Amino acid sequence: MLRRCCHRREPHRPIESQIGRATAGWALGIDYAGRVPPLDAVVVGSGPNGLAAAIVIAQTGRRVVVLEAEDTPGGGCRSAELTLPGFVHDVCSAVHPFALASPVFRSLPLHAYGLEWIEPTAMLAHPLDDGRVALIHRTVAATAAALERDARAYSNVIGGVVEAWPRIERQVLGPLGVPRHPIALARFGLQALQPAESFARRRFTTDGGRAMFAGIAAHSMLPLTMPPTAGIGLVLAAMAHVAGWSIPRGGAQSVTNALIAHLRALGGEVVTGRAVRSIDELPEARAVLCDLSPRPLLRIAGHRFPTRFRRALERYRYGMGVFKVDWALDGPVPWRNPECARSATVHLGGTLQEIAMSERASWKGHVAPNPFVLLVQPTLFDPSRAPAGRHVVWAYCHVPRGSTADMLPSIEQQIDRFAPGFRDRVLARSVMGPADLERHNANYVGGDIGAGATTLAQFFTRPTWRTYSTPVGGLYICSASTPPGVGVHGMCGYFAAHRALSEVLRD
Ligand SMILES: Cc1cc2nc3c(=O)[nH]c(=O)nc-3n(C[C@H](O)[C@H](O)[C@H](O)COP(=O)(O)OP(=O)(O)OC[C@H]3O[C@@H](n4cnc5c(N)ncnc54)[C@H](O)[C@@H]3O)c2cc1C
Repeated sequence: MLRRCCHRREPHRPIESQIGRATAGWALGIDYAGRVPPLDAVVVGSGPNGLAAAIVIAQTGRRVVVLEAEDTPGGGCRSAELTLPGFVHDVCSAVHPFALASPVFRSLPLHAYGLEWIEPTAMLAHPLDDGRVALIHRTVAATAAALERDARAYSNVIGGVVEAWPRIERQVLGPLGVPRHPIALARFGLQALQPAESFARRRFTTDGGRAMFAGIAAHSMLPLTMPPTAGIGLVLAAMAHVAGWSIPRGGAQSVTNALIAHLRALGGEVVTGRAVRSIDELPEARAVLCDLSPRPLLRIAGHRFPTRFRRALERYRYGMGVFKVDWALDGPVPWRNPECARSATVHLGGTLQEIAMSERASWKGHVAPNPFVLLVQPTLFDPSRAPAGRHVVWAYCHVPRGSTADMLPSIEQQIDRFAPGFRDRVLARSVMGPADLERHNANYVGGDIGAGATTLAQFFTRPTWRTYSTPVGGLYICSASTPPGVGVHGMCGYFAAHRALSEVLRD
């Protein structure tokens, strides 16, 4: 237990002494004297995992509050006018297949709180220098048909994962456990545990098929010669068909707003502008769940951990950083091949070889001259996010962790390569390097948006073998630094909350 006293028998204490800051709209049952009963759980951080954890606890009728350091809630799932008034950009996440596939989000009535999904015509576009574009469509069959010589490979490889998904979902989107479908899992695992580069060369024969798979696997933020990059490529590609690479109307903030509205309806609350400096200053609660990666967790709770656990967290490995640019444009991106406008997501990196070189360079601490660029053009499908005829575009590339290199020219050069004249459309830019990302969210150490490298060693046992638990009774970790890792899905929060409910919140 974090606090030893039995809060149920304690008299109600003034709200200010519990959270150190009164908030409008407090919904925890203030009595006539302006006091609230003690809390069951405090969540530090309002990212999608923190909010999911709070919701799971509030669903049981327990009292929970989320404390968020920033003035706006949502962590990696926020939107803001980063460039010009009326242009709504996604600060971090933009495309949300995992939010749609997530068992916890699927179970919540988020549409009742205004969340509306937009499915682009195609899930992904990957242009090549010869003018062709490899597209992922919503169905495996349509995608395979367009891949010509790779049609059968795509149906077998990606179609196989899609077909097996209902049997492997629990293992892929959760911590290690006894599999209910060991044969399906073993079949998936044998492919998933391979490096993407050799896997793509073996399974696909066309430039388009190989490059497309390499681009998807590069979301792993690992060199494509490392396992389990094939697994990350397989799962993300399968998500295009299982769930869709969709965008929320109004931007990522709509996901957060719906989660918060639901949490409030359950009696929970979110307090923003409340950076937690030490767990010792938290209001009394039986459980504290930290939506934090190891480095910021050590800052607020390191003094309470035994040396061994502290060292294990200190050894946790962060991965590459990210350099991100948002543009306000006076028109759509002028793609050489208009097929690129069929998808919100466009991967710009040319061939498998080129993408593999870019990722390897960043991992090894070098700045790639032609970085692999991930681009999202949401206003083609959601015009509400910019003034009439105008557009927002979001893109990033991977860089060495903590890099201070200015990647703006290289990123714009990559876009111009497939969309000549792009720069002429720019009205304004917002640029965020690794240090800016970390300043806005302590979890992204050195700009690592994955809250830790997804190496094999850190895949199943993030951030330590304890996953959600810590040696301090009642203190849990619920961030993307726990399984199943990066992405807007809330599953880390879901599992951490269930751990707390089965331990310190049992009665
Ligand atoms: C540039 C970028 C692009 C991305 N693109 C996508 C995408 O397209 N699709 C996708 O699914 N995912 C994407 N992601 C990843 C996704 O955003 C994260 O995996 C996800 O947000 C992790 O959620 P979380 O709840 O674990 O933590 P976070 O979202 O990181 O939230 C943690 C919260 O804790 C708060 N906090 C930190 N320290 C304290 C403290 N001491 N006191 C109080 N609060 C604190 C932070 O301010 C933050 O709000 C992207 C991330 C970035 C940065």
